[in-house]
Amino acid sequence: RERKRQEGVNLLELSASFFRERLKMPEGQGARHYLAERGLSPEIQAAFGIGYAPDEWESLKRHLSARDIPEAVQIEYGLLVHREESGRTYDRFRDRVIFPIRDVRGRTIAFGGRVLGDAKPKYLNSPETPVFHKGRELYGLFEARQANTRLERLVIVEGYMDVVALAQFGIRNAVATLGTSTSEDHLSRLFRMVDEVVFCFDGDRAGRQAASRALEVVLPLMIDGRQARFLFLPEGEDPDTLVRREGAEAFVDRITCASPLSEFLFDQAARGRDLARIEDRERYASQVLAAIGELPEGLLKSLMLNELSRRTGVERSRFETLMARYGSGVG
Ligand code: ATP
Ligand code: MN
Ligand code: MN
Ligand code: MN
Repeated sequence: RERKRQEGVNLLELSASFFRERLKMPEGQGARHYLAERGLSPEIQAAFGIGYAPDEWESLKRHLSARDIPEAVQIEYGLLVHREESGRTYDRFRDRVIFPIRDVRGRTIAFGGRVLGDAKPKYLNSPETPVFHKGRELYGLFEARQANTRLERLVIVEGYMDVVALAQFGIRNAVATLGTSTSEDHLSRLFRMVDEVVFCFDGDRAGRQAASRALEVVLPLMIDGRQARFLFLPEGEDPDTLVRREGAEAFVDRITCASPLSEFLFDQAARGRDLARIEDRERYASQVLAAIGELPEGLLKSLMLNELSRRTGVERSRFETLMARYGSGVG
């Protein structure tokens, strides 16, 4: 089993260096141009190990097969695609910029690839493999730890390019979930390394939905001493476009001023409601109380109950009774 894992790791490292080499060769010119257009220096490209998969059907396959790696293993680790109908096998990543995804120890475990133009799909990721589980890994975590002797907070963004663009501007503590929503698994891993996470999703409807889901997932993890904050970007922007437009200092200010969880929670429950109306206030209180019910016992929970009571004019003890009666099922 361990030997098998080692075999996978070797194969992935071999592939990563293959992609990096190709980026430097004449065939990588289009990709180098693309990366330069997106403002990424050779230093940052190197820090993230960015490469290029040639516009060929079997270039990686030939490279790996010449090193005695069986096709079955190349398929198992997601580098080769096997077509059932024809029985043919060919490279999964072709004519794409390649982002190696590394585990916390820096070993390559998967790849993401972006087309150079507007073709679809824009991004392609490795499938689930013996070493890659999408819902668990975070892009950029290894690089963030490399770049900081002491990490205090991590910023969670949506995309590869957001992580790399922020790094280009000296903001070297961003990580991205890999096209999945933030899971409890992701967050408990991050909270083992830092006390503060800042969610910074795209300024679009999907990004706002992602923030609401992140709020639900983070609530049970909010033991005292931890912080979660939410940064909302202007409509149509993502961290990459915004840091380019505004520069590093303005972006750092936005991070520093991001809404604390408590504020986001109350704001979100108030949205679309007229709190001068009793019925709206009832629903507002139910929604906030349900969220408070998800918090672990502690000072934050207690302070949130006080605040809810202050905002609604309902005695705190009433909320405590309701919470005891309904548990987290309120609302
Ligand atoms: P870019 O700036 O390069 O256009 P982006 O990161 O802004 O890309 P989004 O559309 O905002 O792209 O998507 C955010 C992230 O979601 C991507 O970085 C990628 O990880 C994932 N993703 C997007 N589209 C796909 C796709 N078609 N298949 C798999 N993952 C995807
Ligand atoms: Mn988006
Ligand atoms: Mn985006
Ligand atoms: Mn983008």
